[in-house]
Amino acid sequence: MITIAKPTFDEKEIQAIQQVLDSGMLASGAITEEFQNHFARYIGVQYGVATSSGTTALEILLRAIGIGKGDKVITTPFSFIASTNCIVYVGGTPIFADIDPTTFNITPENVEQKLIENPDTKAILIVHLLGHPCDMDAFVALAKKYKVLLLEDSAQAHGATYKNKKAGSFGTAAAFSFYPTKNMTTSEGGIIVTDNQAIAEKAKLLINHGMQIRYYHNEIGYNYRMTNISAAIGLCQLEKLDKFNERRIQIAQYYDKNIQNPIITLPTVLPNVKHCYHQYCLLIHDGKRDAFVDHLTKNNIGHGIHYPITIPEQKCYEHFNFDTNFPIANQIKSQIVSIPVHPALTDDEIKTVAQVVNEFV
Ligand SMILES: *Cc1c(COP(=O)(O)O)cnc(C)c1O
Repeated sequence: MITIAKPTFDEKEIQAIQQVLDSGMLASGAITEEFQNHFARYIGVQYGVATSSGTTALEILLRAIGIGKGDKVITTPFSFIASTNCIVYVGGTPIFADIDPTTFNITPENVEQKLIENPDTKAILIVHLLGHPCDMDAFVALAKKYKVLLLEDSAQAHGATYKNKKAGSFGTAAAFSFYPTKNMTTSEGGIIVTDNQAIAEKAKLLINHGMQIRYYHNEIGYNYRMTNISAAIGLCQLEKLDKFNERRIQIAQYYDKNIQNPIITLPTVLPNVKHCYHQYCLLIHDGKRDAFVDHLTKNNIGHGIHYPITIPEQKCYEHFNFDTNFPIANQIKSQIVSIPVHPALTDDEIKTVAQVVNEFV
């Protein structure tokens, strides 16, 4: 079986975890601070606030910048559900804008249309889907023109760049996830990164019970902290992230060159972008996606569908009566398939994957 995802680690992580265990300081502490500072520096921003997950990072990001009840946030209908759930958690109103048919990212044109229709919008929450950065010149310009906040869900884009600037460094703040399938992991974990000190301070307070002086709580906070154990893993993984991404890119280039099948479209990478290939996604035409998935299963090739249904169509949102008319997202959801691209794959395995994909008729 060739798996769709596999965390990569060695003795370094094991030793780092052992050291934390030996220290007796297991919960959030000095290692967490070291990790959040290193990660922020890697992205190219001043502050990092490590959290218990990407989802809690997104929620706290919105709370820390003051998005609340009834506030409109424009986002993508084609993503992991957490990128919309966070808006709902804080009482905000998600407004969806359709995606690009080649990168599957939310487009500036569609967002501008929604900004015109909703002049009271507070923020745009973009998602750098699958590791391909959004069109950031256009989004930065839109945020300025319409005086809205620009926020980045960078949960799939650790180390991806747009014009040599890292995803997560363009907006007022960004969130990353370190779930084990992501480009780097802390087991569970996430982080908020920002250049805005007030947002960072507020986020630190909110993830720690709203507590500055022990047992005095000026506001209702949460326990969304990252542990020293997770952070110790994160420090090791961060050191390897560029190497991990280089291997992902190398595998992607192999697929680009060696996958040839008339009913399959390969991923598009726009100029000026470094795609970090959180996923390598194919489009299967002629209504044959499900047959293709069966073919992969029969040949022991792990795969994923990112994503089989759009966010506004999810059952949990039924009572919101969201607009579900997103022609591009609705088309892509029935064609898309992710094949293995993680750095633990061997050359033989990627050769097998390409062969199996090419054999499909
Ligand atoms: C993984 C992911 C999240 C959530 O991260 P968790 O760490 O699993 O909570 C949010 N948004 C996107 C786009 C993701 O891929």
